[in-house]
Amino acid sequence: MSRAYNFCAGPAILPEPVLQQARDEMLNWNNSGMSVMEMSHRGEDFIRIAETAENDFRELAGISDDYAVLFMQGGASSQFSCIPLNLLGDKPSADYINTGIWSEKAIAEAKRYGDVNIAASSRDSGFTTIPDQSVWQTDANAAYLHYTPNETIGGLEYDFIPDGGNVPLVADMSSTILSRPLDVSKFGMIYAGAQKNIGPSGLVVVVIRKDLLGKARKETPTMMNYQIFADNGSMYNTPATFSWYLAGLVFKWLKAQGGVQAMGEINARKAKKLYDFIDTNDFYGNPIDHRFRSWMNIPFTLADDALNGEFLKGADARGLLNLKGHRSVGGMRASIYNALPEAGVDALVQYMAEFAKERG
Ligand code: PMP
Repeated sequence: MSRAYNFCAGPAILPEPVLQQARDEMLNWNNSGMSVMEMSHRGEDFIRIAETAENDFRELAGISDDYAVLFMQGGASSQFSCIPLNLLGDKPSADYINTGIWSEKAIAEAKRYGDVNIAASSRDSGFTTIPDQSVWQTDANAAYLHYTPNETIGGLEYDFIPDGGNVPLVADMSSTILSRPLDVSKFGMIYAGAQKNIGPSGLVVVVIRKDLLGKARKETPTMMNYQIFADNGSMYNTPATFSWYLAGLVFKWLKAQGGVQAMGEINARKAKKLYDFIDTNDFYGNPIDHRFRSWMNIPFTLADDALNGEFLKGADARGLLNLKGHRSVGGMRASIYNALPEAGVDALVQYMAEFAKERG
């Protein structure tokens, strides 16, 4: 099979030129005589790779020197514990907004370390909308306000940045980072598992305002302490060197595409194409409040669930892969991250139209 359109939610499709470059450099990076995987993380070559990746990421995302950028491990899920451990400080509680499965996982973990105030929840709607900020019961004394800008499973995405007032805003941007321009200065901390818009799984990128460092509880494991990562250039121990390198290649690719401004325009167009088709075709449905539909993860159902298997089989045969929805919600889900070409969305829409015509 030639390369497929991979609609997986993560690990997700990577830009083909990135994979080609990694292949070309696999045995001998830049005449170093070795693969990046084999390099000392303390050596000049890898330090250069790491610094270039961080600088490119800062440039792409518009991150000022007020923020530290950390390359950590353990995926975004490990951050669910790192955040309360590092940020609760001497405050008794933190505010969380519950908009879906990933919010709930963050909440469950935070409860192990302190009091959690669910300032708002859209559970009653089946997580199909986002409560207006005017009804949020936030606490002006909270250590931080955590939310999930894009719920990868539900396909629910904020179209606004909450106003935390003096309370630092903490955002799980795993499935939306770098998908469009963002005003980073509104956040205390942003984190993102890499396996959607950045690179290989396992790596997690943390952007944290420097004044929030140094508040970790004394029992915080060294490997979860943001201050230690910041002080050591994310190299207190051996970092995930190859993943870091690959993320760097993705950042270079993104810059060559025109950065997040250009990606935002392409992503808006890709999402609109798919939603417009779903909305005009009676055979398909998407339950999310239109205002909060995700640009990156688009769940959809067929008029008859009994046809799901056949739909997926036909999609596979055309190289449209991993469209099966998350087990908790069923149906289908098309994840259309930065690296999923617009032609992939066109091919999907064409297949969906043909399938509905034949089987609808
Ligand atoms: N948060 C969100 C929004 C996610 O989509 C995911 C993974 N799909 C995670 C957290 C967990 O990431 P990881 O598997 O890297 O721990």
